[in-house]
Amino acid sequence: MKENISGLPQPKKVILSGMRPTGKLHLGHLVGALENWVDLQQEYQNYHLIADYHALTTNPDSRDLEENAIEMVMDWLAAGIDERISPMFRQSQVKEHTELHLIFSMLITTARLERNPTLKEQVRDLKLENIAYGHLGYPVLQAADILLYKGDVVPVGEDQLPHIEITREIARRFNAQYAPEKPVFPEPEAKLTTFARLTGLDGNRMSKSLGNTILLSDPPDVIRTKMRSAVTDPRKVRKGDPGRPDVCLVFNYHQKFNAAETPEIRAGCESGALGCVGCKMRCADRIVDALAPHRDRRGYYETRKDEVRSILADGESRAREVARQTMTEVRTAMRMG
Ligand code: SF4
Repeated sequence: MKENISGLPQPKKVILSGMRPTGKLHLGHLVGALENWVDLQQEYQNYHLIADYHALTTNPDSRDLEENAIEMVMDWLAAGIDERISPMFRQSQVKEHTELHLIFSMLITTARLERNPTLKEQVRDLKLENIAYGHLGYPVLQAADILLYKGDVVPVGEDQLPHIEITREIARRFNAQYAPEKPVFPEPEAKLTTFARLTGLDGNRMSKSLGNTILLSDPPDVIRTKMRSAVTDPRKVRKGDPGRPDVCLVFNYHQKFNAAETPEIRAGCESGALGCVGCKMRCADRIVDALAPHRDRRGYYETRKDEVRSILADGESRAREVARQTMTEVRTAMRMG
């Protein structure tokens, strides 16, 4: 623990990060979030939320949520999240999320939520004709998720910045309305994640629903088969044709998983000496190597799902303790204790 200027121990800053329970995770999750979470877990107090209520905002079918949460936690653990210092928990198992969400929903107007650019993009991308009340209020639930643990920092991509701004507004409004002398909530800062985004194997955004991903749990032969289907520079049709690595997603994968060989790959691609099939198989081999420790650790948990359930139960109990404490402060500030 660090010390402040008076020599007293200074608590670590709090980070809240989460994912919807979508089951087994893919390379995009590893590069885009998990590696970052693992790097941050010593410096900060991390809480990892499984956003199962958020998942219902776009699909009310709840049948697979629990199993998907377990599958996802196995990937979190295999990636190196340390459950002893970073509690992992389902949003639905800490009732205080819904209570704080309700209180916060009185502190923001529907007009403000309708102006949210992320919502507008979702409506356009998912071709939604009508959105659920809960979907409109999604950023308010997210504010409750973050502020229940008094999150100081939230690692996000640029698309999530408007939500963090809403969280900051709600924190300010709550403090001004109910706790002007002794603010209950911090105004969390967004921490922009600095990673190279991986494109899906078909050139679109990486997504399991599009079937264009490599899963962290895929066996080596599946990784090689999937990589064979990756789109490349359309101008390079056969070995001998000069290629453009900077427009090829396979080269992007090399940069992430095979950094040492990228100068040679670039030269071979541009001169035409390297063919796409050989290039893809070299890339697949490096991904197989990089994921080997993950696959081994995941294999351990796959045979011990009861252990995973008890890790989750322990995380939920620790999260509940913090959430209860915050709600006591909230009710006291509101004189509804
Ligand atoms: S040789 Fe490799 S980098 Fe070049 S276009 Fe083919 S797959 Fe892409």
